[in-house]
Order: sequence, then structure tokens, then C-alpha cells
Amino acid sequence: MRKRLDTERVMRRIHAHLAPGSIPIHAPHLGACTMWTRTVNDAGYAILWTARRKLFVARWMFEQTHGPLLAGLEPDHLCHDPDYCPPGPDCPHRRCINLAHLKAATHRENTIRSGAPTGINARKEWCDGEFGPHDLSDPANVYVRPSRPHERECEPCRRQRHLKNIGTRREQTRRAIQTAGGHGTQMSLLD
Ligand SMILES: [Zn+2]
Ligand SMILES: [Zn+2]
Ligand SMILES: [Zn+2]
Repeated sequence: MRKRLDTERVMRRIHAHLAPGSIPIHAPHLGACTMWTRTVNDAGYAILWTARRKLFVARWMFEQTHGPLLAGLEPDHLCHDPDYCPPGPDCPHRRCINLAHLKAATHRENTIRSGAPTGINARKEWCDGEFGPHDLSDPANVYVRPSRPHERECEPCRRQRHLKNIGTRREQTRRAIQTAGGHGTQMSLLD
């Protein structure tokens, strides 16, 4: 028979292994991440072994608060943005279990929210995206995220989007400093 989980004990164990993380650069309103400092699986997600089972910490914490996730849903990290984060297990957000950073979503919603193109059709030879057209028959123009091996993305568009995001962020910071009455030395910190 499966041993029942002692919820309070598990919760105490989890809280003993948390450390404050950084504030997501693209979504500062979320506040800082709460990082799991113990074991992660190969994909980089927080796991805890308890009563002979492997617990996915983010999912478990989420379900303690919101009830069981419906089939097909997964906790999505709002602190994560593939345009800024390193791909796959290297992304630090996979270890975040800040409940305010987790939202139930389908895998498809995750992809859309992230701003990533929902995958270029496998046979499509030209990108007619925001920054296109780009020749996708050239492998150098095709990018495949390690975490999403079945999707192709247009590499030149991805790069342009990244630059545009950085530009927007810089402009927002500049405006925030100006609004706060800053000038001179603070401005120079941006360049
Ligand atoms: Zn987070
Ligand atoms: Zn991330
Ligand atoms: Zn493109």
C-alpha cells in the first residue's frame, strides 16, 4: 500500500530548502523568485523524494493551494521568458516555487504566453513573420529550443525580437529614472 503523505511535514521540509531568487527582469511586478536549493531533475525542475515517491515541488505546492490540476494542465512559470532565459534546464526559473509565479496552463498556452512563435510549420520554407521574410531552407535560419524539440523558430526573427525587447526595457528604465527626477550619472549607467 502506498504510504500517505504527511502534508505538514512535507511542507516543512520544502520550506527548509528555499532561498530568495532574483526579480524577473521582464516582469518585475512579480517580485523575486523563491528558489529551490535541493535536487532538481534532468529538466531542471525541483523534485523531492518523500514516502518513496518523487514529488514535483512546484506542482505539489500549487495543488496544495489551488486543488488538483486538471488533466492536461501544468504549472507554468510566469517569471520565465524564453527571450531572456537560457534554454532548457539552464533556466533558473524551473527551480522557482513562488506560488505567485505559477499559473495553471496548457502546454500550448505556455508557448503563446512566452511570446514565442507557436512553431513554424515543418515544411514551411519562408518566414513571413514580423521581421521577415527569411529563408528557412537555410538551416542557419532555423532555431530549435532544446526544451521544445518539435518546434522550429525563425532565428533572425528571434534575434530581432530579443534586440527589440532589450531596447524597450532600456527605454522604460530611462523613463522611470526621468520620472523620478534622475539625471546625469544615473543616465550614464544605462549605456
Ligand atoms: Zn519565479
Ligand atoms: Zn526562465
Ligand atoms: Zn523570420
